[in-house]
Amino acid sequence: MSDEVADIDQAQHEELWQAVLRTAVDPIIVIDDAGIILRANEATDRLFGYAGDYLVGKNVSLLMPEPYRTEHDGYLSRYLETGEARIIGIGRDVEAQKADGQVFPIALAVSEIKWGDRSWFTGIIHDLTNRRRVEGELRRAKDQLEERVKQRTAELEASMTELARSNRDLEQFAYIASHDLQTPLRNVRQGLELLDEHLQETMGQEFDREALELRDLTIDAARRMEQLIQGLLSYSRLDRTGRPPSDPVDLGDLTTELLQQMALEFGESDATIELADLPTVAGDEIQLRQLLQNLLENAFKYRQQDRPLEITLRSESVDDHWLISVGDNGIGIDPDQRNRVFELFRRAHPGYEGVGLGLAICQRIVERHGGDIWIEAGPDGGSIFHFTVPESSEPEASEPEPEPARP
Ligand code: ADP
Repeated sequence: MSDEVADIDQAQHEELWQAVLRTAVDPIIVIDDAGIILRANEATDRLFGYAGDYLVGKNVSLLMPEPYRTEHDGYLSRYLETGEARIIGIGRDVEAQKADGQVFPIALAVSEIKWGDRSWFTGIIHDLTNRRRVEGELRRAKDQLEERVKQRTAELEASMTELARSNRDLEQFAYIASHDLQTPLRNVRQGLELLDEHLQETMGQEFDREALELRDLTIDAARRMEQLIQGLLSYSRLDRTGRPPSDPVDLGDLTTELLQQMALEFGESDATIELADLPTVAGDEIQLRQLLQNLLENAFKYRQQDRPLEITLRSESVDDHWLISVGDNGIGIDPDQRNRVFELFRRAHPGYEGVGLGLAICQRIVERHGGDIWIEAGPDGGSIFHFTVPESSEPEASEPEPEPARP
C-alpha cells in the first residue's frame, strides 16, 4: 500500500469510496435480496433519466423492459433458493429501459455481497448503445460491400461469357471462311497457271514484258492468299481438336529430323547447330512438330546475310516444367515487338516472305499443352524463343468442340 493511501483514516476512506461511486462513468447499483435498490450512483440517474434519489427503494426491475421486468423477482428468488445463476457472477449483454421507455443495450456485471445471512447484489452497467450502432454500421457497410462485390462478379462473369461467346463466333467464322475459301482460291490459282500456259502456247514470243509481270503478280498474290488461308485454318483448327493427346513425344528426334529437312530446304551448308539433349514430353506430336518447325523455319528465314547461321537448342528443368530454348544469331526483334509478334498477322520485318501466323500458332500450341512462350534478346543481336511444357504433362483440359454449323 502506498504511503499516501495508508495515511488516510477510516472516514477519509469512506469519503474516497463515495467519490469513486459518484464520479464513476458507468452506473453502479446495489440491491437487496428482494430486488430493492439500496444505492444507485449518479451515472445511473444520468443514463436512465431519473432525478435525485428517485430510484432508491424502488424495485430494480423498473430499469428493465418486459418480459424481464415481470420475471426478475422470480429469477432472484430462484437464485437464492437454488444457487442457479444466469447473470450473477457471470455478467452478460441484456436490454435495459430508461425512464422515458426507451429500450437500449447494456453489458451487465452482477456480483454478490454476503451480508450476515442476507445477500446484496451490485450491478455495474455499461451502455452499449454506441458500440451497437458502430457494429450495425460496420455490418451494413460489410453487407453493402459484399453486395457490390457480388454485383461486380456477376457483371464480370456475364461479360466473360459474352466474350467467350463472341470469341467462339469469331473462331467459327474464321474456320468456315478459311475452309470454304480454300477451294475457290485454289481454282483461281490453278486457272491462272493454266491460262498462263495456254497463252504461252498460243501467243509464244508475243507475250510482252508487262503481261509477264502482271501474270507473276497475280499468281503470287493468289499463292500468298492460299498460305494465309491455310495458316488461318491451322490456327482455328487448333482449338477445334479438343484436348491434345498426351503421347510421349521425343523432342530431340523431332528436332533432328526437322533440322535435316530444313537444311535441304534452305540450302544451308555453313550453319552451326548446337543441339543439347531435349526431353521426351507428353503431348500432340503433330502440334509439337509444327511448333518446332515454325521456330526453326524462322531462325533460317530471319538469319543475317553476312554471317554463318548459328542455332542453339537447349533444355532445362524449372519448377516442374521443361524450359526449351531455341536461340539464333539472326536479325533479332525490337524489344517493343517481342510480345506483339505472337498476335495474328503481326510482323516485325515485312520485307521477308510470310503472313504473320506462325508465332500465333506456336503460342496456341504451347498454351494448349499447359505452357508459356516468350522471346528474349540473343547474345549477339539474335533472338531466343523460350517455351515451357509441364514435365508430368497433363495437358490443359478443353472441351472438344462440335463441327461448326454450316450456314
Ligand atoms: P511470319 O514469319 O510469317 O511473318 P511469324 O508469326 O512466324 O510470321 O513471325 C512473326 C514475326 O516475328 C515475323 O514477321 C518476324 O518479324 C518476327 N520473327 C519471328 N521469328 C524471328 C526470328 N527468329 N528472328 C527475327 N525475327 C523473327
